Amino acid sequence: MVSTTPITLRDLAAIPVERLRGVGDNKQASLAKVDIRNLFDLVTTYPRRWIDRTNEARIADLVPGEEALVLVTIRSVTKRTTRNRRTMVNVNVGDGSGRMDLVFFNQPWRERQLKEGLHVALYGKADTYRGGLQMSNPVVDMIGDRTGKIVPIYPQSEKAQINTWEMAGWVEETLRRCAERGIADPVPERVRRRLGLIDRSEAFAGIHLPDDMKTKELARYRLAFDELLRVQLVLVLRKRALERDSLGIEHAVGGEMVQRFTASLPFPMTAAQQRTIAEINADLASGHPMHRLLQGDVGAGKTVVAVAAMLAAVDGGHQSALMAPTEVLAEQHAASVRAMLDGITVPDPDNLFGDRPLRVELLTNRVTGAARKDVLAGLADGSVDIAIGTHALIQEAVDFSSLGVVVVDEQHRFGVEQRAALREKTADGAVPDTLVMTATPIPRTAAMTVYGDLDVSILDELPPGRTPIVTMWADGPLMESGVWNDIKDEVAAGRQAYVVCPLVGESEKLEVASAEETLERLAFGELQGLRLGMLHGKLPSDEKESTMDQFRRGELDVLVATTVIEVGVDVPNATVMAILDADRFGIAQLHQLRGRVGRGQHASTCWLVTQQKEDAEGNPVVGNPRIEALVATTDGFELAEVDLDLRGEGTLMSTAQKGRSDLKLASLRRDRKLIELARAAAFDIVDSDPDLAGRPDLADELDLIFSDRDEEFLAKS
Ligand code: ADP
Ligand code: MG
Repeated sequence: MVSTTPITLRDLAAIPVERLRGVGDNKQASLAKVDIRNLFDLVTTYPRRWIDRTNEARIADLVPGEEALVLVTIRSVTKRTTRNRRTMVNVNVGDGSGRMDLVFFNQPWRERQLKEGLHVALYGKADTYRGGLQMSNPVVDMIGDRTGKIVPIYPQSEKAQINTWEMAGWVEETLRRCAERGIADPVPERVRRRLGLIDRSEAFAGIHLPDDMKTKELARYRLAFDELLRVQLVLVLRKRALERDSLGIEHAVGGEMVQRFTASLPFPMTAAQQRTIAEINADLASGHPMHRLLQGDVGAGKTVVAVAAMLAAVDGGHQSALMAPTEVLAEQHAASVRAMLDGITVPDPDNLFGDRPLRVELLTNRVTGAARKDVLAGLADGSVDIAIGTHALIQEAVDFSSLGVVVVDEQHRFGVEQRAALREKTADGAVPDTLVMTATPIPRTAAMTVYGDLDVSILDELPPGRTPIVTMWADGPLMESGVWNDIKDEVAAGRQAYVVCPLVGESEKLEVASAEETLERLAFGELQGLRLGMLHGKLPSDEKESTMDQFRRGELDVLVATTVIEVGVDVPNATVMAILDADRFGIAQLHQLRGRVGRGQHASTCWLVTQQKEDAEGNPVVGNPRIEALVATTDGFELAEVDLDLRGEGTLMSTAQKGRSDLKLASLRRDRKLIELARAAAFDIVDSDPDLAGRPDLADELDLIFSDRDEEFLAKS
């Protein structure tokens, strides 16, 4: 019997490419090299470019100096070696309107690629040369003898030895064979209609064989939506399942300790802090474990929010833990949390007439011997209320009596497994509430994908009375001398300064050398007479500690440091920072570093120092988009958007889940709006059908795409 139901992606995945005409053993092996094994792989390998024949220039129309696309036929090819041993391939091409020359330097393989009689699309800038037109090193796309107004160009790789018209031919054959039954569309009709999405069959045809560029765009929109929807569905399903299935602790929020703590703060909370605490409290009070991400810019006051959450646990007789990525940070947190909670007491069951002081303990690998034993015993018997530490906290030997709230600072340096391990540190199978804090904002829509299984709270308001940091770019030695004068002036006025040393590769050894060198240079040169201290990762911890203490007490004027001061260091009297070779740092890192100043009531300055750059011809290079962005704004969220624009998503995503291997068309950068729509659609679908029981087709698609190659993704999300 011949089936007439539409063809699913699973059906396509079940048919190996060898079933296509013209795919023999050789081609099959070549396709496998680029991970195309079946028809699903094939139809989801999208063109990387579409050449619009209706819009191409002819050779006779080319304007020297302007970029243009031309479709031409190869006439002749010659290769030679120049005097300085460079290979040069000269190609003569023509179309009906005229001829021109191409020249390729150092691309000897062009001689093999460009055979007489082939049709190619060229994209480049033509210049006049010896009375004729010439393009050097144009972008070349082989188009074979494809007809049609729009020619798709598929990704080509030398190693696979498959050309774009072969790909186009196989895809065309596949789609033609699907035409009768059509390709199944598992996305609910109501979602499609609401978002104006074209049908999936139409979309596959439109992306591979468009009649015009408009059709191609509509197709891209539809298929990109599908990719984003699938990722969001997995995340939302996981989120809802966690909420449904895991047992949390119903914390008593608004208890006495929290009240005393907020009353003791020397400042009123910002509206953003109040809103965030309310969001967290709602999670804490519910019987579902919290999984919340707290995004807040540097200095937004995340610590207060975290402490309020941790105290809520203690109020109800539970414990809480704060986990930091480094020992320095853990120590810093311990000191500041202890200071904040000074004087707060806990009802003592052993003493009817009095309370005992709240017990906050530090646990890192540097806490050893009897002190460590004491802390571990306290965690196990419940007498330690708040534990602050590094990943030492989640080692197996650490037992908690009743862990109620976990705060993880700087999520991006913490693995998922570590988060999970900490969650397991609970006595009775109840999952502690987890708050993940990050001071490296990422754009909201990217957060939806990277942290899609978390709820998100945003501290988008700085406490009042901060004088905004003025950021200036000191490009070259003349301006740099102004920086040192500024530091001397500030120190004379009783303030302090940071000097951040150039970033030297990955090696900590080089970094130390750079710090030592900078210290020496400044001590005997520009900052002679000031009291300088040095901080870097390789110093013994007691030395680090004592240097920090000295700086905090004002016994040092200038702290020369590596990026170890990036997070957490809080000295309100420091008002100037100079970041040397600032162009070597990324936007997020510069923003973090800058956040070490501007923490008190005095106006602060951050100098981004660079060495003037010259181009190949010796002209000064003007402009640096990253530095300019930092000068223009101190808003971390705005900078995150700029960063995403400048760098693309690769780096942002490097730590994220692998499920994005499904994102072939969608881009976290370009498709921000679409991400939001996909997330909303995922909630709509899951909330009306929690295990997709009524949508087996959609469930099957998720299974097809995420299960075999992305086990880790599923485990995580
Ligand atoms: P973050 O961790 O978000 O970078 P912190 O929690 O370290 O910021 O807070 C930065 C500084 O602001 C701290 O000195 C803190 O005491 C102070 N602070 C926090 N909340 C407020 C507020 N509502 N009003 C005034 N100062 C605040
Ligand atoms: Mg709860």
